[in-house]
Amino acid sequence: MRKQIAAANWKMNLSLQQAEDLVNGLLHKQDDLKEHQLVIFGVPFPYLQAIKKQINGKPNYFIAAQNCHFQKSGAYTGEVSAEMLTSVEADYVILGHSERREYFNENNQMIAEKLNICFEYKLKPVFCCGEPLSIREAQTQNEYVEQQLSDSLFHLNTDQINDLVIAYEPIWAIGTGKTASSSEAEEMHLHIRNVMRNKFGEQVAENISILYGGSVKASNAKEIFGKQNVDGGLVGGSSLVADEFSAIIKALK
Ligand code: PEP
Repeated sequence: MRKQIAAANWKMNLSLQQAEDLVNGLLHKQDDLKEHQLVIFGVPFPYLQAIKKQINGKPNYFIAAQNCHFQKSGAYTGEVSAEMLTSVEADYVILGHSERREYFNENNQMIAEKLNICFEYKLKPVFCCGEPLSIREAQTQNEYVEQQLSDSLFHLNTDQINDLVIAYEPIWAIGTGKTASSSEAEEMHLHIRNVMRNKFGEQVAENISILYGGSVKASNAKEIFGKQNVDGGLVGGSSLVADEFSAIIKALK
């Protein structure tokens, strides 16, 4: 079975103490994960090592950074490199989140370069894609997302793609309380899988985990994750509440 993943994106929230309490609370509520189920905590840079320590020895729990720079090193004040993330034992990096695209002008090409450097330093990317409301209203979301995939992913080789997770996050559903219906999510996930199949072949397409993101909560996770091509979720707001995120993990197939 494909890996089923509950990935938290804490964004710029929580003090270190609050973060540690959240993870503690969550681990207490959680039964062991099945072999094909993963939990990833996407945490602010300063907390990577502390949260890594908390999950140490817990099978199938991982940490992710929420970004990294596309250059190896140098005069980029305030930035964090892939090599630095590897040195603090980060496992994953969330790349191309719509908030980074919108507020920090990240484009498909820049995200492609970030993917390259992550693979060079053995970090696994969670690659985010998804359309704004205007594109959804014009019903051109399939072409829009396909362009994001081709611009940022099509130069990669199959070994790299095998280490990649895709998160489909319609921008109009992020932090808005407005979720894509489970059939809208399934339709896009199938499209993404078909795009990957056409480019990288059957095996890659069948193995790649495609997460849904956009106002996932305990009350809708089971319905969304139940769809054939949805392999879990990238979760913002609801990942900040132990009860909510715990229920979301339990909703994984
Ligand atoms: C996100 O930021 O990746 C996200 C999906 O946020 P939320 O769950 O709050 O919509």
